[in-house]
Amino acid sequence: MSTDYDISALPWLHASHELLLNQVRQGSLGHGHLLDVHSQLGGDVLAMSMARLIMCQALTPVGACGQCKACLLVSAGTHPDLHSVAPDGNQIKVDQIRSLCNSLTSTAQQGGKRVAIIYQSERLNTASANALLKTLEEPGKETFVILQTDRPAALLATVKSRCQTLTLTPPNNAEVTAWLKAQQLLPTALDGAKPHDVTWCLSVVGGPIQLAASLQSDKYQTLLNYRKEWALSLRSGHLCGSLLHLKDSQLIDALQVLYLYLRHFVLKSNDINAFTKAQVITLAARIMDMCHKLTTMAAINAQGLCMDYVLAFKKLTHTHR
Ligand SMILES: [Zn+2]
Repeated sequence: MSTDYDISALPWLHASHELLLNQVRQGSLGHGHLLDVHSQLGGDVLAMSMARLIMCQALTPVGACGQCKACLLVSAGTHPDLHSVAPDGNQIKVDQIRSLCNSLTSTAQQGGKRVAIIYQSERLNTASANALLKTLEEPGKETFVILQTDRPAALLATVKSRCQTLTLTPPNNAEVTAWLKAQQLLPTALDGAKPHDVTWCLSVVGGPIQLAASLQSDKYQTLLNYRKEWALSLRSGHLCGSLLHLKDSQLIDALQVLYLYLRHFVLKSNDINAFTKAQVITLAARIMDMCHKLTTMAAINAQGLCMDYVLAFKKLTHTHR
């Protein structure tokens, strides 16, 4: 969850926030609302801000006032009419939804509005989604259900069709870089050199919020080392550096970096033929496939696997250069 950030600190959410503010002011906000905004982009922050907009008793032209009783209760996490559920393990269970829906049918205690937030709603299973349908169809007066989702495609169509959907255009790399720079998180370039582009690993870490966290820990440097070590290993045909002793928990990150490296290699190499490029792309796709499998696989010989990919790459490229 990214709730450490306030919405004012996540500029790519501002247009959506304004849109929701206008809908609340005009009274045109849907009772079931789907926020197709990944947690990595602050989907949970937007859901909470939306709840504030609905609850606030003295809305200002720029959002919730932050000072009325409702705002204070929401900030303290003690508003009696604001309820939320998040996945318990991999799923949102039917009992969680039943109890949520029950809370929504009891009388509102503050100002009459009731709000429920369901985080990562793609994790509703069939039973819990079905339990939610009735509430989405007949939500009751002044009752709002906000569904945040990381993967809208995984959400049941019956739920989706009963919601008003808000889709976010994610920030581009330049916007992410500007955002990191404003937080002074970009590595300083030595000797006036151009600072290197840190957004190369966005797909590995998950999104801008996680990238910011990676830059504040040693995670970013670890990924950068993988990139250098893959480059060396592919050139020499021997695994080197930390790739020689990856823990199971590091393997997926390392392989995702290899995937990005190979894609980049194909784009940058003018001296290899189209056939070889196509084969390297196929190898990259196999690696990404393995990353998906590894999330559900028991222990594997990490070093052996990495070495296989180095050899496969060598075989593809050495005769065609
Ligand atoms: Zn307020």
